[in-house]
Amino acid sequence: MAEVQVLASDGSVKKIDRDSKEGLQALRQTTALLLAAALHQQFDGIRLGADVASDDGFYVDSDKDDVQVSADELGQLEDGIKKFAKDDAKIERVEVPLADALAEVKNDPYQSELLKTAADNDKVALFKVGDFATVATEDVLCYVDVVKNFKVLSVAGAYWQGKSSNPMLQRIYGTVFYKKDALEDDLKARQEARERDHRVIGNDLDLFFVDPKVGAGLPYWMPKGATIRRVIERYIIDKEVANGYKHVYTPILMNLDVYKTSGHWQHYREDMFPPMDMGDGEQLELRPMNCPSHIQIYKHHIRSYRELPLRIAELGMMHRYEKSGALSGLQRVREMTLNDGHTFVAPSQILDEFKSILQLMIEVYHDFDINDYSFRLSYRDPKNTDKYFDDDEMWNNAQTMLKQAMDDMGLDYYEAEGEAAFYGPKLDVQTKTALGNDETLSTIQLDFMLPKQFDLHYIGEDGQEHRPIMIHRGLVSTMERFTAYLTEMYKGAFPTWLSPEQVKIIPVREDLHADYAEDLRKELAAAGIRVSVDHRNEKMGYKIREAQTQKVPYTLVVGDNEVKDSGVTVRKYGEEKQVSKSKQDFLDEILGDLSSYSRE
Ligand code: ATP
Ligand code: ZN
Repeated sequence: MAEVQVLASDGSVKKIDRDSKEGLQALRQTTALLLAAALHQQFDGIRLGADVASDDGFYVDSDKDDVQVSADELGQLEDGIKKFAKDDAKIERVEVPLADALAEVKNDPYQSELLKTAADNDKVALFKVGDFATVATEDVLCYVDVVKNFKVLSVAGAYWQGKSSNPMLQRIYGTVFYKKDALEDDLKARQEARERDHRVIGNDLDLFFVDPKVGAGLPYWMPKGATIRRVIERYIIDKEVANGYKHVYTPILMNLDVYKTSGHWQHYREDMFPPMDMGDGEQLELRPMNCPSHIQIYKHHIRSYRELPLRIAELGMMHRYEKSGALSGLQRVREMTLNDGHTFVAPSQILDEFKSILQLMIEVYHDFDINDYSFRLSYRDPKNTDKYFDDDEMWNNAQTMLKQAMDDMGLDYYEAEGEAAFYGPKLDVQTKTALGNDETLSTIQLDFMLPKQFDLHYIGEDGQEHRPIMIHRGLVSTMERFTAYLTEMYKGAFPTWLSPEQVKIIPVREDLHADYAEDLRKELAAAGIRVSVDHRNEKMGYKIREAQTQKVPYTLVVGDNEVKDSGVTVRKYGEEKQVSKSKQDFLDEILGDLSSYSRE
């Protein structure tokens, strides 16, 4: 076991295993301190915020108004860190009067604040390396020569103390390990995450954009992104209709009183846009959920037990006032369209309906080739009575029922308190984003409460009124989050059925082969294929490369031979080889590819 000596802010020293979690954190904190020292040395007058060991590396904040650090200067900072990490260099702790320490940083409001926070009885402990000293916080390594395998990664903005009312500082990020191969693995994983990030791909492939100046969290779908979405929407509507769902359209605006009845106004208000006061006493609300809308559809007729389970579905647009810091590309937005559905069931039907929804979901996942997910049963936090509808018996019954359904189906799951909807517990399907964050894709939720609030009933076999139970379900989440997820999962190389451009035709010479290319395009388009011809005045090699970077599944090159033989030369995405074949053979190939959804 390799050990390192760590120094705590109180001056105590102990030996720990360097491969333990604390060992790595101390290395990160030490490197952050050396980065702060390098910044101090290289940029005269720089005002430094905190130096921090994070869960995946380290960072140092500084004021960017007088000293702006550019991405080109990160290498020079690495050299600066190396100079501090000399063989015999040590971090030392000194204790000084607070007034003296403050005098040293009199032009730096951030260091001053950090010193004041850390001071005890007008004294403050500092960590010193070379001639640089800063406030002692978390444990550091006594000897810094182990700081060898590190990289200063990037610079971005961050608010001082994380509060958006505070000034925006620049944050310089880095990563460090004891061993070289651990650093290399980490850098590879980061590169992979960047390549998967749907925001990067969305930009490269021109799928969508979000412009905070026009509206944070309000995405614009470009034609190619819109095509992917339309294919998903058609798929899901067809699938649901085939499974007994009745698709409807309902308004995104509703009288606020309805949300008071539903309890959204009481329990969910902080996520809702403020109501619009129409001046005549009427208040309209942008809906944050579609449930009350589908309840209106249910209530519009007297319902009989023969109609149950009654399955109402909609691609329902909704608005939620998500915090600006939580917004991320299409993953978390403020305007979204949920693949929503509510089934109204008799008590005896709950379990079967729950299972059939789950079965449908598993089929849909199969068609999209989604395999990497886990099931979470989301319960209320019984202590948080503000957030959750207050009815112990209802919660206990519903939670037990969910568990039973999962156990009956033999599916693995884990349980999480405090993740339920305010009206009931749910099954969430958890996936991971490219950046490693957990996110909920699909969800199935039991609800005994809204049917009561809205006084819903159906006429039973006995001729009497009975209360139905509602099951809320989102099969593939919102169009936004699902598209983000698929983009990351496929790294932008969508299977042919989802690809916005399925075929790109490239004439070898525009003057000789353009007509043939156009005829071919018409034939393919008539067969329902999304196809275009690249007529631009560019070299053929350039056009072929671009079709590859745009991840078009099939590129067809047509020149003299193809015109003569009525054929095409096919290059599939990601493959080097080119294959010449007749038009009909190509058509058979691509139609075969399109006939099965998943890419088994
Ligand atoms: P989350 O915990 O992710 O905020 P939630 O529990 O509030 O979601 P639900 O009310 O169950 O979400 O909404 C149904 C589904 O809509 C979620 O499972 C999620 O996949 C998706 N969704 C929720 N909020 C957003 C958002 N801001 N942007 C995009 N999709 C979202
Ligand atoms: Zn609902």
